[in-house]
This record gives sequence, C-alpha cells and structure tokens, in this order.
Amino acid sequence: VDIPLWWLLVLPLFFACGWLAARIDIRHVMRESRAVPRSYFQGLNFLLNEQSDKAVEAFIEAARVDPETLDIHFALGNLFRRRGETDRAIRVHKNLVERDGLNEDQRLNALCELGQDYLKAGILDRAESIFLKLRHTARDEEALRHLLDVYQQEQEWEKAIACARDMPTTTDHLWHTAIAQFYCELAGAALLRGQTPQAREALAQAMAVNRKCVRASLLLGDIELQSGHPQAALAAWLHIEQQDPAYLALVGARWGEAWRACGQPGQDAVLLRGYLERYPTLDLLDAAFDAELKAQGQSAAYTLVRNELRRNPTLLGLGKLLEARALVVSEEDRDDLEMVKTLVHHHTRRVARYACRQCGFKARTFPWRCPACGGWETYPPKRTEEFDLTP
Ligand SMILES: [Zn+2]
Repeated sequence: VDIPLWWLLVLPLFFACGWLAARIDIRHVMRESRAVPRSYFQGLNFLLNEQSDKAVEAFIEAARVDPETLDIHFALGNLFRRRGETDRAIRVHKNLVERDGLNEDQRLNALCELGQDYLKAGILDRAESIFLKLRHTARDEEALRHLLDVYQQEQEWEKAIACARDMPTTTDHLWHTAIAQFYCELAGAALLRGQTPQAREALAQAMAVNRKCVRASLLLGDIELQSGHPQAALAAWLHIEQQDPAYLALVGARWGEAWRACGQPGQDAVLLRGYLERYPTLDLLDAAFDAELKAQGQSAAYTLVRNELRRNPTLLGLGKLLEARALVVSEEDRDDLEMVKTLVHHHTRRVARYACRQCGFKARTFPWRCPACGGWETYPPKRTEEFDLTP
C-alpha cells in the first residue's frame, strides 16, 4: 500500500491534539471540583455507603465552607425524614435554621421542615412551638394544618377547634365536620369526668357548627337516658333520620332501653322494622332482629330476617338467617345448622368490616375517625359487602 510520506508527519500531530484536548477537559473538571468542598464528596460517599451519621457531619461541614448549598441541604433533610431517620433530618434542618445569610423565605422554609421532623419524630411540644412561630407568616396555612395535626394527636380539642376555625374558607376540606367532631370529643371527655352540663354545652356547639352531626345526637340521647329522660333520648335519636338515616343502626340496643323506660316495651321493634323497610342495611337488620326477638319471639324474628334476605340477598344476611333458624329448629337439626353457620361466618368475616372512604382502611367496629388516615366521618355505616353488591 502506498501511503504518502506527509501522512506519517500528520498522524502524530493528530494524537497530540487529542491529548491536549483531553488535558484541557481534565483541567476544567479539576478546577470545577476544587470549587466544591472536599467534604461534599465525602458526604456523598458516606451517604451511598449508608453511613448516615458521617454523611450528616460531612455535609454540615461543607455547608460551613460553601454557602451555595442550600437546596442540597433541603433535599437531604427531606430524604432523611422520608426514610424515618428523623434525628438526622432534625440535625440537618436545625443547622439550616441557625445559619446566617438566609432570606426570609428560606428561613421560614427551614423552620417548617424542622417542625415536620419533630412531628414525625413524635416530639409534639417542639413541633407545636415551631408551628406557632410560623403563624401569621407566609406559611400560615401550612402551620395551621400541622398544628391541627399536633392538637388532634395530643387530644387538645379546644386548641384544635380554634385552629380549624382559623382555616381559610377557600380550602376544600369540610372543616365544619371536623369541628363538630372535636366538640363531640370534648363532650365525651366531659361525660367521663361526670360533668354533664359541660358535655351538653359542647354538644350544642357541635350541632351549631354542623347540624348533621349524628354523633352529637347519639351522645345527647345517651345523656338524656342516663339523666332519666328517656323521652328526650328518643327525640335525640329519632332526629338522626333527618340528619342521615344510614346511621340509625348505631343506636342499636339503646332503642329498646329507652322505649322500656318510657313504659312502651316492644315499640323499638315496630320502629326498627319501619326503618329497615325504608333504609335497609345489615346493621339495621341486626338491631331489628334483636328487637323483634325480644318483642315477638323467635319465629317472628326468623320471619323478619327471611323476608329481608329475600329483598336484599347478602352473605351476612344469610348468616343472620341461619342464626335465626337455629332458634326455631329441633335439637338434632341444630347441629347441622350450626355447622353451616360456622362455614358461612368464616366467609363473611372478610366482608363484615367497615371501610374508610378516603384510604380504604378496614375496621371491625365503627370508628368516627380513621385510625390510618386521620379523616373524620370517613367511614360509611355500612359493611363492605353492601358496597360490593350495590352496582
Ligand atoms: Zn382512612
């Protein structure tokens, strides 16, 4: 092959150029990296090696040397909090709060993050004092939201009410529902201390905030029944039909107690049969069955469940029917029935729960507040099976 001689001269020149270009690039990188403090790379290294404590030290050192690292610190603090390493998140954010040269917006941001760290760590008094500092600043609404969280955890209902009342009306959350529930909590606490007048006052407030507050009606009925006013108790509970008839079953066996105290035993069976006709739910079927059993006896109770099952066929209703049937059959048939009943119960346990509308968390007994997401009145008073059936 014939290669011109001058090629032999050009080729090394090319290599020289490439080498030079590479040198320049490396120099550039070296210069850049020298601008970032060494402790930074150390920190990153520690972080990647899961040595969180050393990482925090290194990053805080880097922050001292180079003030241009704010964003990375916020990101780092949030990362620690999300991973549940709240003590480290607190150290990072505390360092930010105490740092000079932050503008107002950054300082408030750092405070807000620190408050959330304390909240997550369960150090509620410190979280409270930080969010109180943030009230009436640009972060007011956020502070209110977190303070509400603190006060609900501490069961400081009066403070929670004050916070919720301060919430801007533009927020989509239905604060009147929550405020009425806070008053119900106050009423419940007052009742435990035996302070009936205070409980009554709190319930009146709950009704004033949210006239649809079923829980207030339930509690008021309890107070009236305990104070020897069964007529007033019945009036309170009957009012639930106007508030939301789905909740009527929550009165349960207390219907019977109040009617008996009024000298009209058995009236609860009549009432509950009517309710079941109009607002059929499984809980109402339970209550109506018990009342019917007491008032009219076993075969009437059985007929009631059978008719209801024909109207609304459910597994839970079938369980109830078997229970009713076991009451009226002969001794030898009862064993077989018990066996079938146990089998059905085994299958219905799963669908006999209440489910949170907001997060889906399931509960065996009816809660006013979701233990998982903290929402108030997020549980419809129906068993999950009833939702599976409705189209
Ligand atoms: Zn929930």
